[in-house]
Amino acid sequence: MTRTIQNYVDGGWVDASPGASIPVHDPATGQLLAHCPDSTAADVDMAVRAARAAFDEWRSTPVLVRAQFMHHFKVMVEERFEDIAQIVVREHGKTMDEARGEVRRGVESIDFAMSVPVLMRSDGLEDISSGIDETTVRQPAGVFAAITPFNFPFMVPLWFLPTAIACGNPFILKPSPQTPLSAELLFELLDELDLPEGVVNLVHGGVPSAAALMEHPEVTGVSFVGSSPVAKIIYQTCTRNGKRVQAQGGAKNYIAVMPDANIQASVSNILGAAYGCAGQRCLAAAVAVGVGDAYDQLKDELAKQVSELKVGYGLDETTQMGTVISADAKQRIESMIAQSQAEGADIVVDGRGLQVAGYEDGAWVGPTLIAGVRPNTLMATEEVFGPVLSLMKAADFDEAVDIINQSRFGNAASIFTSNGRHAREFKYSVNAGNIGVNIGVAAPSASFPFGGQKDSFFGDLHGQGMDSIEFYTERKIVIERWV
Ligand code: NAD
Repeated sequence: MTRTIQNYVDGGWVDASPGASIPVHDPATGQLLAHCPDSTAADVDMAVRAARAAFDEWRSTPVLVRAQFMHHFKVMVEERFEDIAQIVVREHGKTMDEARGEVRRGVESIDFAMSVPVLMRSDGLEDISSGIDETTVRQPAGVFAAITPFNFPFMVPLWFLPTAIACGNPFILKPSPQTPLSAELLFELLDELDLPEGVVNLVHGGVPSAAALMEHPEVTGVSFVGSSPVAKIIYQTCTRNGKRVQAQGGAKNYIAVMPDANIQASVSNILGAAYGCAGQRCLAAAVAVGVGDAYDQLKDELAKQVSELKVGYGLDETTQMGTVISADAKQRIESMIAQSQAEGADIVVDGRGLQVAGYEDGAWVGPTLIAGVRPNTLMATEEVFGPVLSLMKAADFDEAVDIINQSRFGNAASIFTSNGRHAREFKYSVNAGNIGVNIGVAAPSASFPFGGQKDSFFGDLHGQGMDSIEFYTERKIVIERWV
């Protein structure tokens, strides 16, 4: 019988309340890997109580000791690096190299959290008035939670958990029920780390557990990563309940290619950006805007190279692109391609109906290239979250920027050019949180904040970097006079 995974609460593994569960499949083989419990408000309450009870001891644990835990944690992740990558491949369907990249990025977030003795330091000023000194101290703010998506099941939790706990806050993770096994392995490592009980907690499930975290009076703040409609709900619910919230949403990332760009280098970057992780990245390239002559060159070169990508099982090291997350996702993506065709776009490479020999039950969508996409049509406006790259044409740089800025999303945008003035103008005027110049995936490293603009982000302090230290701490001002 297939096992039902457990929650991790107060330093031990516990069953969630009996009830519904969510099947977890390997999207390439269709194999049922486990059942994920749909935890209830009572399960969440148990985790929040454990976290709250751990707070006083944990916040007074010396900051150097908290940093030391992060050193040990990093070593453990490095030791299990390949096992983690394999779990990510099995439950998500990406390639081994992509999974290794994900784990590496996760480790970088642990590295960042190790620096907490420096990052949490504050400042002060003597003699703000005669004999009076004023200082700022940063204190941990309370119990924090993160609600995370399916697409980077190991990395995204690490954008939050290490920094939150290194700052002295207990933490609760609610991962995606589509990919809960990477989180399970993450907590097996945290269990070996021997943190005080209740400092880290894992509650599996879908909407009921997420809602309970947002309603719980003892939760101080929530970090969210997922689609924009849900990000908006999370932001509104958390603010209504008086909580801190950072809600990173969906995306429609544009790449402008200027006629003066190195086309070969641009195409190779765009291929990785559009089809890496089968397009299931919030930083995936969704639309390439060819400016002037660049359009035809891009279309010809991409058409050739896209159809050569090797799609297959992620554990096969020769695979260049894996599956999408589920049969439902496959159906949604294929119907979006059909809709775009009905709108008059030209399907240059069609990934619909792809079969991979030996994996007949897999959620395969082949890499798809759509040309002649017009503004205000489906492919120009809606997030596909699959291996679909659209091509649009712009007469000049200004028109390309106009097309990009019409999007309601603003997660990332890139330009490929050899002209410094255009690069500068692009950085200056494009409304997106992450800008790439001759870079396909503009992913901020762990010491920089990561978040979009417009419908791609709800809140003010982003994840990662100094923003995360602000988010996870409370600043207190002390004004002293000793007579
Ligand atoms: P999703 O929004 O469906 O789910 C994300 C999380 O929210 C999951 O844990 C899910 O259980 C929970 N959830 C779903 N509906 C909810 C509701 N009504 N109330 C409370 N919680 C709810 O996203 P997904 O399909 O797992 O992930 C893909 C999306 O995530 C894409 O839109 C992608 O662009 C986005 N994403 C954004 C970033 C970023 O940094 N901006 C990073 C990765 C992924």
